[in-house]
Amino acid sequence: MENTRLQKNLEPMFLWSNIVKKNIKYRIFSHFYLSEENLYTLNEEQAHYLLHVLRLQTGDVIKIFDGFSGEYLAEIVQCNKKNCQIQIKEKLREQSVSPDIWLLFAPVKKDKTDFIISGATELGVSKILPVITQRTVCERIKIERFQAQVIEAAEQSRRLDIPSVENPISFAQMLKTWPKDRTLFFMDETGNGTNILNCFQKNNTKSAILVGPEGGFSEEELALLRQQNFAQAVSLGPRILRAETAVLAALSCWQAASGDW
Ligand code: SAM
Repeated sequence: MENTRLQKNLEPMFLWSNIVKKNIKYRIFSHFYLSEENLYTLNEEQAHYLLHVLRLQTGDVIKIFDGFSGEYLAEIVQCNKKNCQIQIKEKLREQSVSPDIWLLFAPVKKDKTDFIISGATELGVSKILPVITQRTVCERIKIERFQAQVIEAAEQSRRLDIPSVENPISFAQMLKTWPKDRTLFFMDETGNGTNILNCFQKNNTKSAILVGPEGGFSEEELALLRQQNFAQAVSLGPRILRAETAVLAALSCWQAASGDW
């Protein structure tokens, strides 16, 4: 009897705390390793975002993750115009790792490249590697910008890990340094590739997807790719897709057939 009364009194509190946790809208990435019950001072940019963009205050709660140790609930315990200190309250999720799929792509125009980077992060790639092909036309590549974009996309997509972003490499260097135990699925717009559903199976563990530039791969590049034992030509159907559409289509098919969908 006493126990039941106690439980009834506790229930609303329990429900309230679960509802609060579920409804926490704000989620940020931490450049520090996090652990329970510790206090952290956020960097100026994050403090500005929380305090001036989201207009959060002392006592408000956020979700925070560091890419390695899971996701935590944290409370803003102190703030002034420029600084913000948070205290980790509890762990909300254990760390999980995304499937082992890399994206290699020939950079395109700035806004389309931005779209590729955030889309690939949402679709769970583990590594992003820009490749300069013969017909790649793009402005200067800013890796720091790509890194900021993967963090933003991971924050909003509830990812717990952050894909690595590599410095651009040439097409020749890519072939020369390729790890032979990883299959390179290259999207071949010439119609000579295998139907995508016949390429991706449950056992495609170490995989990578390569998408060409707006002008497509050159004949020479396609011939070189076809010579490699680790490479496989893939068709995305009879229509020619924009590079950014091809990235999303290929990654979606891979995730459905071999990944974590
Ligand atoms: N300029 C090329 C042409 O007109 O044939 C089209 C290149 S497409 C805009 C950019 C990249 O997307 C291609 O290099 C290829 O990797 C991929 N792609 C587009 N459509 C594809 C398809 N139907 N099958 C396989 N890959 C495709």
